[in-house]
Amino acid sequence: MGRFDQFCQSCGMPMDKDPGQGGTEKDGSKSTTYCSLCYVNGGFKDNFKSPEEMVSFVKGVLRDQGHGPIKRWFYTSHIPQLGRWK
Ligand SMILES: [Zn+2]
Repeated sequence: MGRFDQFCQSCGMPMDKDPGQGGTEKDGSKSTTYCSLCYVNGGFKDNFKSPEEMVSFVKGVLRDQGHGPIKRWFYTSHIPQLGRWK
């Protein structure tokens, strides 16, 4: 477990903020790499092909939650560096 494991390697959400406590693998075990919103039964829930798609999706979610543009940038600026998008 490196320090990057603290964040979902798809959407960048802190794993301790994940209401599902991690995504699920095909065998039902918990993923420590991806959150429950991104990853279910060993596959991604979205069909995003690029980090830009994830960034705009997450920014939309944050906007719906009432976050301003600086927080939206702050929470999404690291997404292109996450494991899924390398
Ligand atoms: Zn995620």
